[in-house]
Amino acid sequence: MMINENALPLDYLGRPLQDLRISVTDRCNLRCVYCMPKEVFGSDYPYLARDELLTYEEISRLTRLLAGMGVRKVRLTGGEPLLRHDIERLIEMLARIPDLDLTLTTNGALLTPEKARALRDSGLQRITISLDSLDDSVFASLNDVEFPVGRVLAGIDNAAAAGLTPVKINMVVVRSVNLDSVLPMARYFHGSGHILRFVEYMDVGDSNGWKLDEVVSSAEIIQLIGDELSLEPIEPNYLGEVARRWCYTDGAGEIGLISSVSQPFCGDCTRLRLSARGELFTCLFASSGHDVRSLLRSHVSNEDVSATIRSIWAQRDDRYSDLRSARTVGRPSVEMSYIGG
Ligand code: SAM
Ligand code: SF4
Ligand code: SF4
Repeated sequence: MMINENALPLDYLGRPLQDLRISVTDRCNLRCVYCMPKEVFGSDYPYLARDELLTYEEISRLTRLLAGMGVRKVRLTGGEPLLRHDIERLIEMLARIPDLDLTLTTNGALLTPEKARALRDSGLQRITISLDSLDDSVFASLNDVEFPVGRVLAGIDNAAAAGLTPVKINMVVVRSVNLDSVLPMARYFHGSGHILRFVEYMDVGDSNGWKLDEVVSSAEIIQLIGDELSLEPIEPNYLGEVARRWCYTDGAGEIGLISSVSQPFCGDCTRLRLSARGELFTCLFASSGHDVRSLLRSHVSNEDVSATIRSIWAQRDDRYSDLRSARTVGRPSVEMSYIGG
């Protein structure tokens, strides 16, 4: 594991802080059944009010402090980050922080050619776009708002044309819904220059009715694709990389596997999450966060904010996925759309 000498102390389990995921909104224009099921996230859902959200100035101040403590990779997410008004302004502010790798994850619905160029021009370096099937009826049964595949594919093209490359495509596989979409997706993106990543369906939050038998393991995906398109494993780009990489032996690119359930990677987890409301979460599966918004709004010095973060990180002992099998029934967990995927 790479350790920045000026960084925060290691956490309780010896892990450095390197990545920050920032949720800029808890709202979304899709209702993916594994993330924001309609029955829970209806029109009467108590979304955060505007003044509850961290402002861009607050996010940028916190990110700058965290960058000083070792954070090198920042991902904007949500909810749907492109729903947040003038997100380019935040990107511009973050892009001024030296040596940060700045990326964003989106469902691609709002990724017009103009939007993609504006994101790039404001300093975004790369983008991940989520797409779970090439089949409209399968995709609709997952996004639950009849959102068409063609619009996401257009978003992917627009991102690539704007230079947000390589574009990564995230596909969550839910056995009874889109297992049959795995091969068509692999064929479509084979040789495209984009990196298709298969994400194991996770039990995050309390609302998606997760069942272990709906999870399709990365090993099964590799077998399925490898039977048709020959694959071999390749080295990670850096230690602690979340996705395991496999490349096509015909030279037509690579795929990624995010095996949070079948091969947990808590031992290398260097991620901190900032919710749209300004709480820091030390694990995707945490039941509660640490409020930093009130700290930021109470005119404390940067040194005091940093001291609070140091103490949060020093006490971090999360390794939920490693312990998943021993999960306590009924333990409350925070929704992915709130904490940021
Ligand atoms: N709305 C954006 C999007 O969908 O790309 C960004 C936020 S979303 C929460 C981030 C990523 O989390 C997406 O790629 C999504 O597919 C993934 N995700 C959401 N719920 C999940 C679950 N239960 N298991 C695995 N991945 C999930
Ligand atoms: Fe929205 Fe992304 Fe969650 Fe789907 S996965 S509901 S697009 S936040
Ligand atoms: Fe990190 Fe928590 Fe996921 Fe483990 S379960 S990899 S500690 S976010």
